[in-house]
Amino acid sequence: MPIMKIRSVPRIYTKYRKIFGIVPNVGTLKKIKELQKLEPVCMSGQSETIWDHAEEVNVYDVYGNKWLDFSSGVLITNAGHGNNAIVQAIINQVSKPLLTSYCFPNQPRIDLIKKIASLSPRGYKTLLLSTGSESTEVLLKLMRTYGSKIKKNRNIIISFQGAFHGRTLGAQQMGGSPALKSWIKNIDSEIVQVPFPDGFRCKNTSFQLFKQSLNKLGINPRNIAGVISETYQGGGPYFFPKAYVKELRFWCNKYDILLCLDEVQSGFGRCGKQWGFQHYDIVPDLFAVGKGISSSLPISAVIGRPDVMDLYGPNEMTSTHSGNPVCCAAALANINYIKNNKLIQNASKLGAILNSRLLEMQNCFPEFIGFVSSVGLVGGIHIVQQGTIKPDGELAKKIVNLCYKNGLMMFAPVGTGGACIKIAPPLCITEEALKEGCDVIFESLAELLH
Ligand code: PMP
Repeated sequence: MPIMKIRSVPRIYTKYRKIFGIVPNVGTLKKIKELQKLEPVCMSGQSETIWDHAEEVNVYDVYGNKWLDFSSGVLITNAGHGNNAIVQAIINQVSKPLLTSYCFPNQPRIDLIKKIASLSPRGYKTLLLSTGSESTEVLLKLMRTYGSKIKKNRNIIISFQGAFHGRTLGAQQMGGSPALKSWIKNIDSEIVQVPFPDGFRCKNTSFQLFKQSLNKLGINPRNIAGVISETYQGGGPYFFPKAYVKELRFWCNKYDILLCLDEVQSGFGRCGKQWGFQHYDIVPDLFAVGKGISSSLPISAVIGRPDVMDLYGPNEMTSTHSGNPVCCAAALANINYIKNNKLIQNASKLGAILNSRLLEMQNCFPEFIGFVSSVGLVGGIHIVQQGTIKPDGELAKKIVNLCYKNGLMMFAPVGTGGACIKIAPPLCITEEALKEGCDVIFESLAELLH
């Protein structure tokens, strides 16, 4: 790999981090400025590193700077960056060559579908797609199709305040951030949000609140087609109390309402189990997956009850790149790697360490950290204006930026007021690297908050 060294002595040099001087350096900034002239502003906002290559838990630029990665891109690289088994599977498929086949069957698609079936609730079928948003759009379509075809004129969809399901029209309408919907003038009045029981800003975490909210809105359960939620809300991560989800499952069964979970972030081991919903001891009727399904190329899926998945006939619910053979080969290698290398167990084991480090941080800086949470290897630190629960997005950004300058990569803060610092390393991370990354955050907090 050609490395353009600008200084011979790194300012930071550990097993997991190597930073020369100030980052971003002048050369990087120049290239980023050129890029920004040609791209819309929406593509800026992350730390200014031009990623050159990435391996396991590290991201490198061409100058030899090396970051420890707590982003996994955006919770993509569960099996680690540049995973060799995935690289080889892609190379093998590319060299055949078979690069695409639309909906004509191909062998990697057959293998992947069988593999996903072996990990899913018994009898569930899988529809392969390309992006997370596409998969949540399909959930919306299936909920409504079921509601109209099977249950006769049921059209209402219930989702949650604060939810995120992607940026396309339907996905965004199921989302629960009003600001993200301000561009939609003909908003669908039958997609309705109820409070999410996060235990932080919504203290009432009982299922009663769900039923009371529907009552207040004048919604009769017999007009509801489906309920959708992320397994955990990404802006937290906020998890439901287990009892709440169990009651929700029971309630959906009672009225024959489809319960859909968005596992785009939580699937494929992120929470220390194959599927995040296993933490709740329930099975959704349908669920969407993406991101960690391949640790690499774009591919997503909807997995669900066969009677619902089969509501559309041949060629009626397809997508150009569904089951792309290269993406399928990558996903299959990824799933096998995660299993063979016990990465889910690793996420579960190291999750306990992450959790205790987050609590330590909150104990040290209670005035500025309003809330912390984690399950498996996804965690969040909520930065607040001193002594309040008001989000402090500016301070959160400063903390992420200081970590970046010191060799720890995280994506820009998310959630309410952009104040949640999200931690999501590849699931192959070692205890040593996880602790080192947490130390970097600790030091940055100490530098900025004392
Ligand atoms: N659902 C969830 C829970 C997500 O986190 C995301 C992406 N952050 C999406 C859906 C949308 O996925 P994509 O960006 O691949 O469309």
